[in-house]
Amino acid sequence: MAKFVYDFAEGNKDLKDLLGGKGANLAEMTNLGLPVPAGFTITTEACQRFLAEGSHVDGLDDEIDRHLAALEAAMGRRLGDPADPLLVSVRSGAKFSMPGMMETVLNVGLNDESVAGLSRQAGGNDRFAWDSYRRLIQMYGKTVCDVPGEEFEDALHKAKEAKGVRDDVQLDADDLKSLVSAYKKVFVKHVGHDFPQDPRQQLDLAIEAVFRSWNADRAVLYRRQERIPAGLGTAVNVVAMVFGNLGPDSGTGVAFTRDPATGESGIYGDYLQNAQGEDVVAGIRNTLPLADLEKIDKKSYDELLQIMATLEGHYHDLCDIEFTIERGKLWMLQTRVGKRTAAAAFTIAAQLVEEGMIDLDEAVTRVSGAQLAQLMFPRFDLGGDPASLTRGVGASPGAAYGSVVFTSARAVELAAAGEKVILVRRETNPDDLPGMIAAQGILTARGGKTSHAAVVARGMGKTCVCGADQMEVGRDQFTVHGQVVREGDVISIDGTTGRVYLGEVPVRPSEVVQYFEGDLDPALANEPLVAAVHQLMTHADERARLRVRTNADTGPDAARARRFGAHGIGLCRTEHMFLGDRRELVERLILAHNKTERDDALAALRPLQRNDFLEIFREMNGLPVTVRLIDPPLHEFLPSLEELAVHVALAKERGEESEEAERDERMLAAVRRMHESNPMLGLRGVRLGLVIPGLFAMQVRAIAEAAVALAAEGGRPRPEIMVPLVGAVQELETVRAEAEKIIAEVVGDSGVEVLIGTMIEVPRAALTAGQIAEAAEFFSFGTNDLTQMAWGFSRDDVEGAFFWRYLELGIFGISPFESIDRDGVGRLVRIAGEEGRATRPGLKLGVCGEHGGDPESVHFFHEVGLDYVSCSPFRVPIARLEAGRAAV
Ligand code: ADP
Ligand code: MG
Ligand code: MG
Repeated sequence: MAKFVYDFAEGNKDLKDLLGGKGANLAEMTNLGLPVPAGFTITTEACQRFLAEGSHVDGLDDEIDRHLAALEAAMGRRLGDPADPLLVSVRSGAKFSMPGMMETVLNVGLNDESVAGLSRQAGGNDRFAWDSYRRLIQMYGKTVCDVPGEEFEDALHKAKEAKGVRDDVQLDADDLKSLVSAYKKVFVKHVGHDFPQDPRQQLDLAIEAVFRSWNADRAVLYRRQERIPAGLGTAVNVVAMVFGNLGPDSGTGVAFTRDPATGESGIYGDYLQNAQGEDVVAGIRNTLPLADLEKIDKKSYDELLQIMATLEGHYHDLCDIEFTIERGKLWMLQTRVGKRTAAAAFTIAAQLVEEGMIDLDEAVTRVSGAQLAQLMFPRFDLGGDPASLTRGVGASPGAAYGSVVFTSARAVELAAAGEKVILVRRETNPDDLPGMIAAQGILTARGGKTSHAAVVARGMGKTCVCGADQMEVGRDQFTVHGQVVREGDVISIDGTTGRVYLGEVPVRPSEVVQYFEGDLDPALANEPLVAAVHQLMTHADERARLRVRTNADTGPDAARARRFGAHGIGLCRTEHMFLGDRRELVERLILAHNKTERDDALAALRPLQRNDFLEIFREMNGLPVTVRLIDPPLHEFLPSLEELAVHVALAKERGEESEEAERDERMLAAVRRMHESNPMLGLRGVRLGLVIPGLFAMQVRAIAEAAVALAAEGGRPRPEIMVPLVGAVQELETVRAEAEKIIAEVVGDSGVEVLIGTMIEVPRAALTAGQIAEAAEFFSFGTNDLTQMAWGFSRDDVEGAFFWRYLELGIFGISPFESIDRDGVGRLVRIAGEEGRATRPGLKLGVCGEHGGDPESVHFFHEVGLDYVSCSPFRVPIARLEAGRAAV
C-alpha cells in the first residue's frame, strides 16, 4: 500500500512531487541539521485520492495516528493535552509555490481547557495563550468552515476601538479572552455549531480543508494562469508550533539570501517582534528591517546569517526563508529557491558563477528568454520611488502613458487627433478592439493574464495592466480609494510590474538594448546587469546548435538584426517593396491588356527590386538571405472594391468621359474580377507566380542581379529564393525550372550560388514533404500559416473574437499563434523534417513564423532538429538565449 505520511527526517528536497515544495525543503533542512520544529508531511498522493474519492482515504488515518504519536513522544507532550498541550500547524504546500492561494491553520490543539495549559507552559503568560487561541478560531473558522474573514477582523477592530488602542499587541489577556468569546459567537452564527473542542477532530478537519483548498476558485484560477497542472494536489505539513508571540524576546520574520529585486548580496528581510505567522506579510504593524535584529538578539541573528550561508551553499541559489524566534531560540519554518526579478535572475546567475557555486551551463538555465524580453522593454524612469495609484496584473509588458479614455470610440477619435491615450475599461470585449489598437496601453479592473484584454494586448505587443481590482470604473471616471481620475487625466501604466501611476512618468530605453545595439554609455558597461547579460549570452551562443536568423525586409532592419546577433535573414518579404509610389507600377501590371504592357510594368519594377535586394545583401554580407517571392493576394495592392464602385458610379452619373474615368472603370472591373471571399486561401503565393506570367521571373532576375552586383563589389552574397504556399511538388518544379534558367543566365561565371527552396505552410506540403524535397534545397516552416490552416483559425480574427474564451476554458493554455502547438502543428513540422531529409539528406530546415522568437517553441525546434529559427530583430537575442538553453 502507498505510504501517505513522511516524517521530516524521511524526505528530501528532490521529493517535491510527493511532498510538495514546502515539505520537501523542510525535510531537507531537517536533514542538514538545521533547527526545524518536528513534524510530518502527508503526501500529494493522499490529497489526489481524497479529492477523487470525495472523502475518506483508506489507511491514511492509521498513518496519521502513528506519526502523531511519534511527534508527541518526541516533543514530550500530547496534542491538546489540557495540562501541557502540544500544538501544531497544518500547512498546505504544493509542488509549485502558489503564494497565498491555499490555506494554513496555526495553533491546532487549543481549546477552552488547553488554553490554560499553554499559559502555564509559558510561565503563566495568559495574554499569549489567549492570543493564540483567538488566532486558531479565526484561521480555523475561515479555512475549515468558510466563515467570512471580515467578521473576525471587525470583532478585532471593535475590541481595539473599545480599548482605544491601535495595535493588537496593546490588547491584554482579558481583552483577548473577550475577543475569543466574540469570535466563538461569529463561529456559531455561521457554522451552526460551537467551535470544536476535540483537538484530534480539529486536526483531521484542518487537514481535509487543506486538501480541499487545492480546488478553491482562486487556486484554480492561479493554476490556469501559471499553467500548473490541475491534478497535482497539495501536500499537508503538520508541524509542532513554535511561538513568536511570547513577548518582545520572540518574533517572526522573512529573509532572502540576496536581494530578489537586484540580485545584490546583503541582508534582506523583515522582522516583527511579538508576532505570529502571517503578521509580517499581512502588514498589521510596521516591520523592522532584518538588520535591526542584530541589536535585538545578536545570537539569533548570527545563527540566522550562518544558516542562510549554509542554505545558499547547499541549494546553490538565492533562497528565501521564514523563521520564528521563540524566547531567543531560532527556528526555521520554511525555505525555497526564491522568486526574483528578471534583472536579479541575470545578476545572481553571473554572481554564482563568479563565486564558483555553479558553472556557465547551469547559469544559462537559471535565466530565460522571457526574462530577457522583460529587460529589453523601455522602462519608466522612476526618480526615487513615486507612489503608485494602484496595481494590477502585469499582463503585457512595456511602459505607456496617455490621457485616460473610457470608450473604444473615444480612444480612436483622440488617437486620430494625435493624442496618446490609455484605454480604461472594467473589462474589454471584442467590440473594444479598435480602441485597443488606437491606445498606447490598456488598463482594466477585472480579469487576469488570460482575459480578453490581456490576450489581445499581448498579441499586439501593447502594454496592458489587467485586474486592478481596487479601481471602480464608471462611465467617465474611475476611482481608487476615493481618488477620482477623469477622462483626459494623464496616467502611466507599467505592463511588467502592473503598477499604475498618476501623471506622465518619463520613459527611458533599456540599457540591455543599448548594449545589444552597441551604443551603450561606457559608464554602464560595467553595470552588473549588463556584464551578466554579456557573459550569459556569449555562453549561450557557444553552446547553441540552432542558429538564429531574422525576418527583415529593409537594409536598416537587417543591420539592426545583425547587431542583435542574427546569422542571416530567414524571411525577407517582398510585398512591402510593392507599396508606396510603386503601387502604380503594380496597378499597371495587373491591368495590363497584353504582353507588352505587362513586360513594360515588370521592366520598370525590376531595377527597383534589384536595389532593394542589393541593400539587404550588403548588410548581410557573408550570411544567408532568404527572399520570399511575392505572397499576398494581388488585390491587396488595389483600391477597395466599395470605394472604387462608388467613385465610378458617381463619375458615370456626372457623365464624365476622361481618360482617368476610363482607367477607373477598367480598374473596377479588375478588382471585381479578382475579388475573393477567402483571399487567404485564394490566389496568392505560388499560385500568383503560376498565373501572372513574368512576375516571379522578374523577382528571380532581380535577386540574381543584386547578388552578382554585390559579388562584383567584392562581397559575398548568399541568396536563397523561397517559394511560398506550395502544396504539391509540381508547383515547385514549374517555378524552379523557370528560375534555374534565369539564374544560370544572370550568374554566368560570377561564382554566385543561388539556392531554391520552399515554405512549408500548407498542411499538404508537410504531408508530402518527401516529394517536395526533390525540388527544394531548403524548407522554411511558415508556422503562422501552418497553424492557421492546421486549426482552421483565421489568425487575423480569432484573437479578439474567441481565443480569450478558449483560454478561460483551458482548451489551450496559450494561443497556438504565440507558442507552437506541439501535438498538432508541431507534428506536421516533425513529419516534414524527417521525410524531407529522407529524400535529401542535409536538407536545410528553418522556421520563419512568429514562433521563431517564442522561447517554448525554440526548444521544440531544437528538439526536432531544425537548423535555424528566424524572428523579428528585437527577438533575436531572446531566441539566441533559448537556443543556448536548449542545448546545455
Ligand atoms: P504560506 O505557504 O502561505 O507561507 P505557511 O504554511 O508557510 O503558509 O504558514 C503561514 C505562516 O505561519 C508562516 O509565516 C509560517 O512561518 C507560520 N507557521 C507555520 N507553521 C508554524 C509553526 N509550526 N510554528 C510557528 N509558525 C508557523
Ligand atoms: Mg510560508
Ligand atoms: Mg504564409
